[in-house]
Amino acid sequence: MALMNGDEYKESIKKVKSILYVQGKQVHDYWDHPAISPTIETVAAAYDLSFSEHREYTTAISHLTDEPISRFINIAQSAEDLLKRQQQIKLASFCTGECIYQCTGTDALNATASSTYDVDQATGTNYHDRFNTWLTYIHQNDLSVSGSITDVKGDRSKRPNKQSNPDLYTRIVERKKNGIVIRGAKAHQSGTIGCHEHLVVPTTAMRQGEEDYAVVCAVPSDEKGVIHVHQFNAGDAMRLAGQGMDHGNVRFGAYSTQMIIFDHVFVPWERVFLCGEIEHSNNLCERFGRIHRCVSSACTSGWIDNFIGIAQALADYNGLGKVKHIRDKITEMNFMGARSYACGVAAANMGYKSASGVYLPNRLFSNVAKLDGALSISECRRMAIDVAGGLVATAPGERDFANPEIGGYLKEFFQGVDDVPTEDRVRMFKLAHHFFTSGGLVEAKICGSGTSQTQLMNIYWLANLEVKKKAARVLCGIEDQSEYDSVVTEYGNKMNSNPERGDDS
Ligand SMILES: Cc1cc2nc3c(=O)[nH]c(=O)nc-3n(C[C@H](O)[C@H](O)[C@H](O)COP(=O)(O)OP(=O)(O)OC[C@H]3O[C@@H](n4cnc5c(N)ncnc54)[C@H](O)[C@@H]3O)c2cc1C
Repeated sequence: MALMNGDEYKESIKKVKSILYVQGKQVHDYWDHPAISPTIETVAAAYDLSFSEHREYTTAISHLTDEPISRFINIAQSAEDLLKRQQQIKLASFCTGECIYQCTGTDALNATASSTYDVDQATGTNYHDRFNTWLTYIHQNDLSVSGSITDVKGDRSKRPNKQSNPDLYTRIVERKKNGIVIRGAKAHQSGTIGCHEHLVVPTTAMRQGEEDYAVVCAVPSDEKGVIHVHQFNAGDAMRLAGQGMDHGNVRFGAYSTQMIIFDHVFVPWERVFLCGEIEHSNNLCERFGRIHRCVSSACTSGWIDNFIGIAQALADYNGLGKVKHIRDKITEMNFMGARSYACGVAAANMGYKSASGVYLPNRLFSNVAKLDGALSISECRRMAIDVAGGLVATAPGERDFANPEIGGYLKEFFQGVDDVPTEDRVRMFKLAHHFFTSGGLVEAKICGSGTSQTQLMNIYWLANLEVKKKAARVLCGIEDQSEYDSVVTEYGNKMNSNPERGDDS
């Protein structure tokens, strides 16, 4: 089958009979539900990009079928592939002003593609072939895949197998002749209800005794035992209670996440891509993290560009568009958005081709890109609110303007510059409210792909302290100058993320 466009995607998702609860009630035609339809609309917009003038970035040629596929399900073969993906994500995130809901899946696909190869080489299993067979089906049908990583995790101070409830990390509860049965729950799954399939991956590296938790498998979204619970947020509440301009991002908002419960879900062997090989779960999780963090800089910078657009538009509507401190703040925001993106671009450029043929980004720069993005978007949010003013939080709504008794007052008293209708100004404030206060976007950048401590730990581990100390000793004469050449070799090797010359892991 060829690439799907947005309308074809919408038709395809109607055939997926997923179980979904929103606010305690099961919703059958979920694609039409006001809290869910923006998600479907956003994913559809991403499908449409496969047919846009930017399809050089949004599509790729499948390494399995040699046919054009969406870049969301592509396995990166080169730095160029990763760079194009970043352009795809930045474009899609900026144009929708939303999470594009398929990236976690892409990153889980790439991490699994590279790790299954390594497991097979080390242990003689055939996970890689199985994975490729399933991925061929995904490519042929242009399906969207969610990356189901984050377990609910219970008591964070305890390992998965030491929790009072052993199912707080998704695990294998039964091994059968024809497959496995899994039980557990994944929280905060971005737009997962808009995906045809879930790729289940461990949330952390597993240790001895945790073999049942080292499981990677593919599950259709409507498989028996799979239950989605919409994680209702302030943006959803606005969707339900508000009207028209109250929605802020009228077509694509609000940020949508679901919890996925896997209650004794049977997975046939052909869909199982890791089953107990704990020694490989570390690589898998680390690779997922580095790919996700590299690419997350692209949506971060796309959204910062949205922040800039809103802030400048509101400054103009307030009559302050050319004031110095506002120009300075806009400049600062543009600087931070470009810096985050540049870190991700560097991570893509300075990566390497793993043994499997999958191209992986540079680990240090990926972690720097994610952390920088989290800090930058938080600071840009503060600056954009500062530029825009308090109506970001307090603007009246659509029904107030429609009321004949008070609507006139509102139009009169919320006027900004003369040539901009009051309603346009308030509409822009509602978009600002959506972006800056209604939950999802900034939180996704802070917590998504791991909270900041995860990146800081990686950055510390990758500090290469020994060669740095050695150079200091050589430079000040504590160590003999004959060691100078070894500093050149070691430091030079570490600058290249090439596993054969010192790796970055
Ligand atoms: C909007 C949004 C979208 C998301 N989308 C997805 C998605 O599509 N797919 C997906 O799989 N996940 C997704 N996530 C999940 C995201 O990856 C997690 O939120 C993140 O990994 C942190 O996990 P947590 O929320 O359970 O927080 P926790 O792990 O509980 O972290 C909270 C704090 O506790 C600290 N902490 C935790 N454990 C320890 C410990 N043992 N020792 C010391 N400190 C500790 C952390 O560093 C952090 O400071 C999303 C999250 C958000 C907010």
